[in-house]
Amino acid sequence: MDLFDMDDVVGGPPDECSTPLKEWRLKLQAGTLTRNDFIEFFKKESPKYFDYQNELDTVKCMFKEALAKEEIIDVLVEFMLGDNPKSALEKLRLEGNTATVCGKVFKNGEPTYSCRECGMDPTCVLCVNCFKRSAHRFHKYKMSTSGGGGCCDCGDNEAWKKDHYCHLHLDNRKNPLESKIITEAVLERSEICFSAILSFCVNYLEIEPNASLQCLDGEDMGLGLDGANYCTVLYNDESHTFDQVIQTLTKIAKCRHKEAMEIVAAIDREGRAVVKCDTFKSCNDLKTAIENQMIPATGLLANPRNRESLRTSVLHINSVACQQFALQLLSWFQEFLVRHYLFRKTFSELVQRKQESFCIRHILEYDVKLWKTARTCWHRLLISGMLMEYDNKMVLAQEFSRRYATIVEDFINDDHDHAFSIVSLSVQLFTVPSIAHRLIAMEGIFDKLLHTFYYVAIEKFILNRTLHFSKNIASLTFFKRANYILYDLRYLLSLKPDVLSSELRTGFLEGCKALMRVLNVMQGMESITRQTGQHMDYEPEWECAFNLHIKLATTISQVIEWASTDKMLLHKLYKMTVRALVSNNFIVGAAGGDEVEARSVAGHVASCLVYDVLVRPVSIHLPLTRFYAGIYLHLEAHGLSYDSLVAETEVLNIKLTPREIIEPVLCTHAMIAQVAAGMWRRNGYSLLHQLYFYRNVRCRVEMLDRDIVCLQIGASLMESNEFLIHALNKFNLIGWAQPNYETLLAESSVDEEFMRQLSMIDEFLELLIVIIGERWMPGVSLVSEEDRLRKEIIQLLCIKSYSHSELSRALPDTTGGNSDSVFEDVINTVATFKKPVGADRKGVYVLKESLYDEFNVYFYHYTKEDKSKAEELQRERRKSKKELVCCPPPMLPQLTPAFTSMANILQCNVFLTICTLTMDRALDIRSRCFSESHVQKILHLLGFAIQEELSEHYPFLSFYERAQQYGILDKLEELARCPRLEAHRDFVLWTIKRFKDMQAKQAPAAAAGPSGSQRQSMGGEELPLTSEEQARKEKETRAKLAAERRAKLMAQMKSAQNSFMKSNAEMFANSDLEQSSGSGASSYRTAPTMGGSAMEWEDISDDSLEEQGAAALAIKQNPACLGPNRAPYQAQENSFKCILCFENCSINPDGPPLVSSAFVQTSRVILTTPGHYDGKSGMHVSCCGHVMHYKCWQEYYSNEESKEQRRHHRNRLALSHGHNVEFHCPYCRALSNIVLPVSEPLGGLIPGHAAVPPAVGGGSSENYLPLDCFVEIMRTLAGELAAPAADSTMWQYPSVLRKSNVIGDVAQFERSVQLIEKPQLHPTCTDVMSSFNKALQNAMLSQQPNAAAEGGVGVGVGVESDSPYLVFDTCSYTLESLEIYMFTMRKPLKVEMPMRHQTCTTNLVRACSLYSCWAPHRPELAAKLLDTIFNQKGTSVLEWDCFRMLVQLNFGVLNLMLRESEHAFLPSGSMFDFYMLQTMFLANVTKAVICFDVEKELAKRRAKEEAGAQTEFSQLAYVEQLPSKIQENMVAFYRSYNVPARMRQLVQQKKLAESEEKQNQSPNQEQTVVIPCELQHLALMLEHVRYQMGSFLRCACLFYRCMTDVEFPDTFPLEQPDRFDLMCQYLGLDADMGVYFDMETVFATMMHNFASHPHVLRQAEQCSLGYGDPVEVLPCLRPLPALKKLFDDYSDLINSVSDIFCPNNEREEMKTPTMCLICGEVLCGQSYCCQPELGNMSVGACTHHAHSCGAEVGIFLRIRDCQVVYLGRGKGCYVQPPYLDEYGETDQGLRRGNPLRLSQYAYRRIFMQWLGHKLHEEIARLNDNANVAVTQWHHM
Ligand SMILES: [Zn+2]
Ligand SMILES: [Zn+2]
Ligand SMILES: [Zn+2]
Ligand SMILES: [Zn+2]
Ligand SMILES: [Zn+2]
Ligand SMILES: [Zn+2]
Ligand SMILES: [Zn+2]
Repeated sequence: MDLFDMDDVVGGPPDECSTPLKEWRLKLQAGTLTRNDFIEFFKKESPKYFDYQNELDTVKCMFKEALAKEEIIDVLVEFMLGDNPKSALEKLRLEGNTATVCGKVFKNGEPTYSCRECGMDPTCVLCVNCFKRSAHRFHKYKMSTSGGGGCCDCGDNEAWKKDHYCHLHLDNRKNPLESKIITEAVLERSEICFSAILSFCVNYLEIEPNASLQCLDGEDMGLGLDGANYCTVLYNDESHTFDQVIQTLTKIAKCRHKEAMEIVAAIDREGRAVVKCDTFKSCNDLKTAIENQMIPATGLLANPRNRESLRTSVLHINSVACQQFALQLLSWFQEFLVRHYLFRKTFSELVQRKQESFCIRHILEYDVKLWKTARTCWHRLLISGMLMEYDNKMVLAQEFSRRYATIVEDFINDDHDHAFSIVSLSVQLFTVPSIAHRLIAMEGIFDKLLHTFYYVAIEKFILNRTLHFSKNIASLTFFKRANYILYDLRYLLSLKPDVLSSELRTGFLEGCKALMRVLNVMQGMESITRQTGQHMDYEPEWECAFNLHIKLATTISQVIEWASTDKMLLHKLYKMTVRALVSNNFIVGAAGGDEVEARSVAGHVASCLVYDVLVRPVSIHLPLTRFYAGIYLHLEAHGLSYDSLVAETEVLNIKLTPREIIEPVLCTHAMIAQVAAGMWRRNGYSLLHQLYFYRNVRCRVEMLDRDIVCLQIGASLMESNEFLIHALNKFNLIGWAQPNYETLLAESSVDEEFMRQLSMIDEFLELLIVIIGERWMPGVSLVSEEDRLRKEIIQLLCIKSYSHSELSRALPDTTGGNSDSVFEDVINTVATFKKPVGADRKGVYVLKESLYDEFNVYFYHYTKEDKSKAEELQRERRKSKKELVCCPPPMLPQLTPAFTSMANILQCNVFLTICTLTMDRALDIRSRCFSESHVQKILHLLGFAIQEELSEHYPFLSFYERAQQYGILDKLEELARCPRLEAHRDFVLWTIKRFKDMQAKQAPAAAAGPSGSQRQSMGGEELPLTSEEQARKEKETRAKLAAERRAKLMAQMKSAQNSFMKSNAEMFANSDLEQSSGSGASSYRTAPTMGGSAMEWEDISDDSLEEQGAAALAIKQNPACLGPNRAPYQAQENSFKCILCFENCSINPDGPPLVSSAFVQTSRVILTTPGHYDGKSGMHVSCCGHVMHYKCWQEYYSNEESKEQRRHHRNRLALSHGHNVEFHCPYCRALSNIVLPVSEPLGGLIPGHAAVPPAVGGGSSENYLPLDCFVEIMRTLAGELAAPAADSTMWQYPSVLRKSNVIGDVAQFERSVQLIEKPQLHPTCTDVMSSFNKALQNAMLSQQPNAAAEGGVGVGVGVESDSPYLVFDTCSYTLESLEIYMFTMRKPLKVEMPMRHQTCTTNLVRACSLYSCWAPHRPELAAKLLDTIFNQKGTSVLEWDCFRMLVQLNFGVLNLMLRESEHAFLPSGSMFDFYMLQTMFLANVTKAVICFDVEKELAKRRAKEEAGAQTEFSQLAYVEQLPSKIQENMVAFYRSYNVPARMRQLVQQKKLAESEEKQNQSPNQEQTVVIPCELQHLALMLEHVRYQMGSFLRCACLFYRCMTDVEFPDTFPLEQPDRFDLMCQYLGLDADMGVYFDMETVFATMMHNFASHPHVLRQAEQCSLGYGDPVEVLPCLRPLPALKKLFDDYSDLINSVSDIFCPNNEREEMKTPTMCLICGEVLCGQSYCCQPELGNMSVGACTHHAHSCGAEVGIFLRIRDCQVVYLGRGKGCYVQPPYLDEYGETDQGLRRGNPLRLSQYAYRRIFMQWLGHKLHEEIARLNDNANVAVTQWHHM
């Protein structure tokens, strides 16, 4: 069915001529319509939508895009598509043939995905949408974030090896290319519109810096020079900093700082901003002023551009308007083009018209004249318009290539970032292989790129045909920009073709010629000459040359790679290289370079080039020679060889001898050896840096590695003896190789020169080992690239176990990151991956055991440290395996035929002479020219030789025979006995063993015969022991000796003991007696610490306990801390050492006060549940517990304080007032900002007569007032306190007692409250406490400056900053946090708490208790509290935090009843303290009962049963045995107060009433709905209540233990959960729930009182019927705090914010989306657009958020770079993010791009740090350790 009706596409005839649309249509019909009609329209219309306002001195401009869209663009669309453009566009969409390629242009920060299995190169990426719909999702992929500007390659055949399309684009491919909507007529109209758009935009967007007056052609609009119709526009550049521009604006344009910041942010974002709208004159004056402003260069980075002025221009307002509109038009046009292929076709045809102003060529070339946004708009347009179709892409690529030189030059001279230059388009074009190849073949782009590079980047540095960058640092930026050409080159060559066409080959060779020219000037660049006499004056510049090398190295490798596949190419390139080498005059062709002299060793003579490295220049850079070596490796595969090619080149009269090939490399290596020998010390660090990079993984592939190949080429082409003589000569070692060296040497003394000589020998031998041994190089021996990688990995893993990231960093990145899969394959064959253990560890690779045999200690990529580390490990390993302790050489792979002759070195005369000479000298005691390492290296070389012979790869090799001639074996055996070489004995033995293997194989006859060596082996014992055997033998001897000694000693001791026992018999008897009569209780406690005899002690004490009877045991095991049965206070020892003065100090009331440093912070950790506690925060105290004198501390503190102030002054950080100064505990460095008083146990302050005695004899309760009296007194007190005109005498306790009609006397009361004489404290004690209080106030004010009265409405009594309740609330908040922390950690009460928790809570509670006696009286607060609790005024139990109120009640009330200063009520466990607990306990029970929801609980139960869990009614048996009266009471209580029950009842009642109404029954007959309540329900309810009481009871236990110092009984469980009954027992409460429902008791009355509060009823009504205000219910159990639940897959997380916009500016994408892990909000972090104000400072969005969300701390996840930040009060730190890859590693900054998953373990660690209030501490710790640059954390 065809849904589409074609009629509405056709434009009807015009009705009237007033609208432009109709005008156009008419003109179209008349054939007179031109693009100018549209352009004029744009010009006329756009100024209407430009608007500006002058606010103060700052102008605010805006372009009303929405209106402009409606009035201009929509009209245009209607003209193109017909009368109903909307439906036409919709139909177009439904046709679904937008494109078969995605081409989505990435925004900055958008995630991109590349496939490691299928991507052609790492630049091939997918957008999220395509990735999610593609097969690559299941492959090994990498993730990263785009820098902006690239585009999605989905659907590009050349980007992927397979799975080219995602589902979406695969579907699109099936659709036809034509459209029913886009008819010829539409296209005709579109063409005119398009051309109008393009020419309008091209004309208007160009920046015209000096065109100010030309804009006056707007005169026809009636605007003259005088009107305020001009704008000063400021443009972006990359050379001025934000601050510089802000400074200019505030100084010259007189902007305020904040506005200046906004303008600068806009300039940065868009590339320009209008800074003034005024008359031409004033605008122009401003422009001149800004331009004349000289901005001083910033610091060291002296950029010449820096001294340039800011770019400005004065434009007519209309021009600005047209430009703004042009930008909008371009963006719209880009989106429009995406809609259909035919639009793009039209577009592409248009821009190919060469005569037009908007032809591609012009667009490309005028890019540099635009500002940032304008450029981006054009780039996007080109991408959408030209890159979706292959043909268009080709056209663009060709045009781009033709203009390349111009654009690049513009780019280099411009200063915008690469991403904002049209040059960045190259990655889209050059990475498409077929296009790249065509460009090389047809456009000569390879040549052009290098040609351009040569002329723009390096030509000016050429001196004497060689590059010298010298110290021209200023050229660095410019040089860096030019290096982008080399990136382009890399793209171009990234894929080599399978077959080369002749054009491609020609084009490629042209490029190679240009490359040769570059390499030619690089050969020998930055050459150095050994400095003698004095040090270098300055460190020569070296980085430029290395940068050039690094940038070019990939290209060199690529060119060699290309050449390796094509014989003709290789052939020509070889000749080209030889020609270049011959023409180059570095070293070989140097002046006098033909001078040779004859040198001879062991009867062989070689004519060596005279070139002394000690005095002539040498260089690290030999790219031409190395290129030759690279090419040479591929000759053989194509049947070519040096010899066959020599003939050819000689015809051309160019000759390159092997000697000439190796000479430059040999010189460089001689220099390197001399540096190692300390002969180049005066050349400074620059040289050392160069040598470091020479072997560094980033450079060595085209440096060190090629050099060794080059020497190997020489070794294979030259006669072996000759080669060695050349090398010896270059190292100045010819003399050493002569037998008479020793005698010559004897004449000279042992000096530094001599030591250097020894070192040079070492270097020479090592080079020889490398030349022979390092042949894991395809082309040198029969190995593949994988083998090469394998060898590399094995050697690395011999140093240590590597994590995945370390390993990939340590390996060269040869194929541009795509070697990943190869790497993975290889690594898995050689190593096993050990999974990470714990959160801190990474997983590591461990080498497979068998592969340690392949270890080569002289591996050429090892540094000195690597070598010694690996050697040590290898020796240990072999020792533990009981093998010879040495590092023998590994077996070598077989050489390729071209290199086979290299093996001959191992048997040539010079080699054997060197070996024997070295061994002889080692054996000669008098010899001086010898070192152990020489021998070690000689052994290594001999090992190579023996193994090569054993391998039988080389028929010409007869090492055995040759060795026999030189008597090698005899010498070896002598060496084995030589004491001088003991350290290497095992190695010698290994060599002998291998030698004999060879002997047995090679000459069985000889082995059998009575040869010299045979004799030796017959008398095998003569051979020395291996070090292993020797060690064992020694050990045995030692052990034997030791055993003997021990036996002797034992015998002596025994006799001594016996005689001692005899003489002291009596004493021993007594001590036995004492032990058995030890007093039960105390010994029971101390037993385990008594050391050796603990066992006996315990046995005895158990016995004695049993005797005392079970009852006593029960009391002892279950002591109560409160109530009639409370255990008596037991004095404890309390002496400390002051950590500052080290004096002993014990706490007593009149002694000097002691303190402990503590840290107070505002906290919302337990208040972050969404929906509760909005805006509230508490205060948390932590304390390390180290004790010091208050006086000592004061001294320490004032010191720290002044230090801190100095530091702040230096850092110019505003020391925000009100904050407590931070310091560290002098002992443990714990972060602190206050001190907490350390006081003695409260029980110790109560004199014996006042203390509550334990219940002995039972009758004691009469001594006290009962609970109901307490309640009565409290009620009365509330009334008295609140009475108007109250005076303090009214609430003195005798008066209150009287009024409350309590039966009982004053003495009873005084006993019940434990009235004591006020303890006399040291005068400064009160100082401590008030400073503590002051610190709390500071902390609270800094977080909630105006929260004074809001502290905790509804939860208890509101707290003002100056109220004593602040201290008490801090106490309760700290205890509640601790309870939740412990609960979350699954730790019960009894578990041993860390000292910091223990001491912190104890000190805090004791301090509060003492403070309550001195605190300022606040009767109104106490009145409110008492009224709330006892008089049902104020809030109801539903809204209470019962524990918090308990603490307030306990500390804040009683002392009001005392007005005189001699006495005090010290809260320390009196009966009244107990009653307070009972009251709040009952309140909490009431709350639990009335909130209990039976249906919910039953449902939970059912769910559990369904899940297969056993459920039972644990309380059912208990309920059943209760008296029926109690049961009835429970039911009644439940029915009348339970909120859910009442809710249901009300709802059913209402329904019933309604249905009755319907049935017209009279409403008089009231039927009452009765909610069912069975015993099962009651059982369930009690179970629920017991569970709900958990948190309250645990807090209370912690609290009263600190107050009474009664330990938790041993019956407390050691594993969670803590038990209800045991906690009740400890607190003196009745755990028998039935008791509380007994109507006879005061309990039931109190519960009824609590439950009958009007709010409770209102809650039920509100929930069911919806009237009344909702009550803010606080659940009994606080919801456990939790951090935001994160996506398991990191890419889900990153995608979730890919389209997020800044909350302040909906047009701006969020650059650094940052998630608050506490609440989950995503913020615009660290950005100029979001800088809210906090106090009077503008801060980053995160800082602002943290202030309220986390009460000054925050945990943020920076989503795009996967980093977690802790923020706290202007400070912060980075911590490990919780996302890990499969190797257990994090990826901060997404550099590796491996898929990341959430690690629960790591996330929990962050959670625990937050929950434990340790963030501030962690921040301080990390900032202390890391010496990082000061980050402006508050901008975060
Ligand atoms: Zn895509
Ligand atoms: Zn796609
Ligand atoms: Zn794939
Ligand atoms: Zn002290
Ligand atoms: Zn401490
Ligand atoms: Zn938050
Ligand atoms: Zn923002």
